[in-house]
Amino acid sequence: MPNINIDGNTIEFRQGQTIIEAAREKGIDIPHFCWHPKLSVSGNCRICLVEVEKMPKLVIACSTLASEGMLVHTKSEKVIAAQNAVMEFLLINHPLDCPICDEAGECKLQDYAYKYSLGESRFVEEKVHKDKRVALGPRVMFDGERCISCSRCIRFCDEIAKDPELTFVQRGDRVTIVTYPGEEMDNSYSMNTIDICPVGALTSKDFRFKARVWDMSSTNSICTGCSRGCNTEIWVRNNEILRLTPRHNEEVNSYWMCDHGRLNTFKNVNADTRINSPQLRNEGQLVESSWEDAVNETVSKLKTFNKDQIAVIGSAYATCEDNYTTAKFTKTILGTGNLDFIRHIDPAFADDILRTEDITPNSLGAELVGIQPAKTGLDIKGILNSIKEKKIKALYLIEDDIIEAYPDFENAIAGLELFIIHSTNQNKSTAFADIIFPSATFAEKNGTFVNIDGTVQRIKPAVAVIEQDRALDGMSMSRLDKFGTKYDRWASGEKINALPTWNILSRLAKTMGNKLKFNMAEDVFAEISNSVEAFKGLDYDVISEKGSKINSDIPNKIKVS
Ligand code: SF4
Ligand code: SF4
Repeated sequence: MPNINIDGNTIEFRQGQTIIEAAREKGIDIPHFCWHPKLSVSGNCRICLVEVEKMPKLVIACSTLASEGMLVHTKSEKVIAAQNAVMEFLLINHPLDCPICDEAGECKLQDYAYKYSLGESRFVEEKVHKDKRVALGPRVMFDGERCISCSRCIRFCDEIAKDPELTFVQRGDRVTIVTYPGEEMDNSYSMNTIDICPVGALTSKDFRFKARVWDMSSTNSICTGCSRGCNTEIWVRNNEILRLTPRHNEEVNSYWMCDHGRLNTFKNVNADTRINSPQLRNEGQLVESSWEDAVNETVSKLKTFNKDQIAVIGSAYATCEDNYTTAKFTKTILGTGNLDFIRHIDPAFADDILRTEDITPNSLGAELVGIQPAKTGLDIKGILNSIKEKKIKALYLIEDDIIEAYPDFENAIAGLELFIIHSTNQNKSTAFADIIFPSATFAEKNGTFVNIDGTVQRIKPAVAVIEQDRALDGMSMSRLDKFGTKYDRWASGEKINALPTWNILSRLAKTMGNKLKFNMAEDVFAEISNSVEAFKGLDYDVISEKGSKINSDIPNKIKVS
């Protein structure tokens, strides 16, 4: 491979790479505003100027191709003077309203002002004033004074969202961003422009002024909005989720996520509709109960049915750990083969960027860990018809809304003799339940999902629930680290009384005289990897932050039911 030398370090590069790309691949950071690894090169901000020996002038590292034997200097006197000049120029008209800017704390301009500028301005004239609160679309606000005209947002709409909506107008210091006449920036990926805007010129309508970045903690997670499984960070303050942002994973979602996933997949966690305690139906009304009473009532009621009268529905929204425990509980403890899950397919949701027509995060995982009817058991259609024919009299539903999915069966489901649900929030089905167990959301538990490409990915608790809090109380810090987040982040804020499905079923199994022997989600996953071929050799450490491929072909059963 050819070599270049940057600041005395000789590094290899691939033909066709620019200096900035070659440097970045080897961990050498050259400052940049307008350059982004996934966008075309515009070369307008000039902060990436470097000195190349035998070239008469400084060159921009983002558009200069690396070539054999090139000697590059990124910290020479000339380069530092150029960086100072660019920063002074960019800050001339910048409003410096960092104290009220959402971007403060994660702003490239702020960071580079410390790193690459002299810290003072010679400009004493009046700054140019521009519009500061412009709604570019339903989700993104624009502040013209903060914009440094890098054009990243324009190129993102053109090249990634494939929906040209933005352009520059005017020239010189009057230049600004507008949407094309009659257009607004409403593409399905519009909020990625907020992430890539190097300053606070683009902000989220949903998150505006909600929190300072340094007051939040962030936890790596996975979006639950569809089977792509985009990698995310969950941002929390006082045990409340305030925003999701995309996390880079080149194999899954690159740097992006869609606006639906970003905005609509976490609001249920702190919603008023959260189920905050087990509930039992008493004289027609659902009333709160203790975990012990709910478990005892469930066990005694399930015992009154023979196994052919019981059906269980797992969930494409639940983790592999929850579904594996459900399948094991169903087959070995309830002894029924009537087991399936609901496929949620919406062709209108899909596009050729990230969004898939399966709008759940774990159909593949549910199927792989055993949520399938036994040879003589009923699948989802068979279960529904048997409920109608009153052959199935007891239904155990995990984390889904069967009435929303199959409204024609509402009367039949309402006529069940026993209807048990694990649910995070109230929904159409919980209104008809006899027993409800409050289940933890994706943001409150450890677990795994398998995405559409067969990548197993981890979720971790970003907010605490009451039971988890009790269980963790008194644990050593090294053991707490197993839970993926720092315990002290959970110290404040309201907590929900909920548990992961695998844990609820383990409690039921124990009361029924059987042991599932799972103390942590990791125990469940260890058993999955021992017993399910597709997961062989995987554990939570192997999966790490970027996911691991399953060891088998993807079964092609994800279909409209
Ligand atoms: S709004 Fe942000 S991303 Fe768009 S041109 Fe201005 S600084 Fe760049
Ligand atoms: S494409 Fe799917 S997984 Fe990715 S952010 Fe959107 S809804 Fe979430």
